[in-house]
Amino acid sequence: MTEIFTGSFTQQEPIPDEGIAAANAVMQSGRLHRYNTSGHEIAEAALLEEEFAATVGSKYCLAVASGGYAMTTALRASGVQHGDKVLTNAFTLAPVPGAIAAVGGVPVFVGVTEDLVIDLDDLAAKLDQAKVLLLSHMRGHICDMDRLMALCDAAGVAVIEDCAHTMGAVWNGMPSGRWGRFGCYSTQTYKHINSGEGGFLICDGAEDMARAIMLSGSYMLFEKHRAAPPVETFAKIKYETPNISGRMDNLRAAILRPQLRDLATQAARWNARYRVLEAGLAETPGLRLIPRPEKEQFVASSFQFLLLDWSPDAVHTVLARCAARGVELKWFGGSEPKGFTSRYDSWRYAPSEPMPASDRVLAGVIDMRLPLTFSLDDCAMLARIIRAEVSAVYQGNVAAE
Ligand SMILES: *Cc1c(COP(=O)(O)O)cnc(C)c1O
Repeated sequence: MTEIFTGSFTQQEPIPDEGIAAANAVMQSGRLHRYNTSGHEIAEAALLEEEFAATVGSKYCLAVASGGYAMTTALRASGVQHGDKVLTNAFTLAPVPGAIAAVGGVPVFVGVTEDLVIDLDDLAAKLDQAKVLLLSHMRGHICDMDRLMALCDAAGVAVIEDCAHTMGAVWNGMPSGRWGRFGCYSTQTYKHINSGEGGFLICDGAEDMARAIMLSGSYMLFEKHRAAPPVETFAKIKYETPNISGRMDNLRAAILRPQLRDLATQAARWNARYRVLEAGLAETPGLRLIPRPEKEQFVASSFQFLLLDWSPDAVHTVLARCAARGVELKWFGGSEPKGFTSRYDSWRYAPSEPMPASDRVLAGVIDMRLPLTFSLDDCAMLARIIRAEVSAVYQGNVAAE
């Protein structure tokens, strides 16, 4: 019997009841704007920031309109000017080079390894080209952060971490987002907590956060923030910093607060699913699993593997045969950007040199969403289907399409 998977790869879990109740209360109050509080009332957005800062252990936190907005704000607050080069990953999602372009910066792409992390040797060779690295922990794979920070610190390069896929993750005992000067997070539907759109920016630098708050559009109401530096910090900054509105509202904050409390539980559920897939795909001929270092405590909201050095036709055949059995796989080797999948040479507004070593890896990267609506049994079935189709094509038992 040929198994067919019928789950939906885009179906996330509902917002918890507590979040729905909190959202209703905000709507009943009519006070959706974060600065629209009465008397000593504390806005949901301000409480959420305080709670997120406590979760990751940062001094300061700002809730914003998207992950992309968090990154542009971090770049601006780091002093990136029009025309400045900014180092970033060749393997990432479009909003990352987009954030650099938004501030007039020019991305300098750094390669990806077979372990799907930034190539630290390539980074070392390019560090003299820029003052800032926008580091993307793409698909939740964290590089050797101790080595990366040593390299960047020695070169005087500031690190901004894109933690869209590493909220709740840790490297060597320190949360992702806490290594660099800024950490940026997304609360968009496909990330680890879901408010449709949204994001966070964290840092420990008082002036950095004062600038970020002013940039986000605080209308001189920065005193209403709680995970923020003392008001004196704003004395000069408030005159020098443009308002580029991108605040989070209380409605989104209200639905995020209960989700944040569940983050560790959800992370464990994601990882249990990941481990079932990993075990089910172990030693599949032709398929390379991504090693997960001991120092990396990841949150697996998606699953990747490599079909390294496969012909594009053979990869297409695997994708088509899996799709016919209900398994939606995405491929980073396609020549055209599709859906959420694009690569450094698809972003034609940004100059890039050919990167043969990275191209070889990207040509083999297969990516799958892992929503929590999938059960462990679902994951076991997904592994059986992928294993069967990869093996059949690899062993030449089916004709390439
Ligand atoms: C989702 C995502 C972001 C931020 O996305 P927004 O849609 O702007 O919230 C940033 N980086 C990566 C790698 C992402 O996947």
